[in-house]
Amino acid sequence: MTRTIAVLAVQGAFAEHEARLRELGANVVELRQAADLKQEFDGLVLPGGESTTQAKLLRELGMFDELKRKIESGLPVLATCAGLILLAKEVEGTGDLAGLDPGAAKERLAVHGFGTLDVSVERNAYGRQLGSFHAEEPWTEEARDVARAEGDEQIPLTFIRAPRITKLGAQATPIIEHDGYPVAVLQGKQLGVAFHPELDSDTRLHELFLSL
Ligand code: GLN
Repeated sequence: MTRTIAVLAVQGAFAEHEARLRELGANVVELRQAADLKQEFDGLVLPGGESTTQAKLLRELGMFDELKRKIESGLPVLATCAGLILLAKEVEGTGDLAGLDPGAAKERLAVHGFGTLDVSVERNAYGRQLGSFHAEEPWTEEARDVARAEGDEQIPLTFIRAPRITKLGAQATPIIEHDGYPVAVLQGKQLGVAFHPELDSDTRLHELFLSL
């Protein structure tokens, strides 16, 4: 069955996701305005970019409430980096706002996203000095059990000013870990990823999403 995947295309790294999804045989529709939500789709991608801007645009363009409703009713979602921040129940962090007083820093880093994924994230926690870096990790045991993830090869992980998942709620399962922290989690049909799978040639994250 060919799946139709809606990709949020208001800001950020959505084109790379679209290319990957097409490569895997999916139909892609772009969500740029409220009218685009009238199309039928079987899954949603929330790309990387700037989460504060994305949350603001989702509201201004009149897409926020309906997308939240769809996610809550079980629409499969792949959320990467800024997208993960939009899904997270709790957003914290000091980022690189040293110099601002704590109240002002907290305000600047607040993201009023969907809050449907039971994790806490700290924005910009990876790569504060470096900006971005690369690592490789295998699936966790849970990924094999819960998500039937396959293959023993390492999965490439590209981090770009990425959020760190600092707390995991009881319903969320870590499917990839790096340095003692989960960097990909699955809760029902929500797949939240701190890194950028669309920038590496490994297609397994997107395949896992399409299998949800
Ligand atoms: N630093 C961005 C944010 O906090 C996320 C970075 C990314 O998506 N690559 O929104």
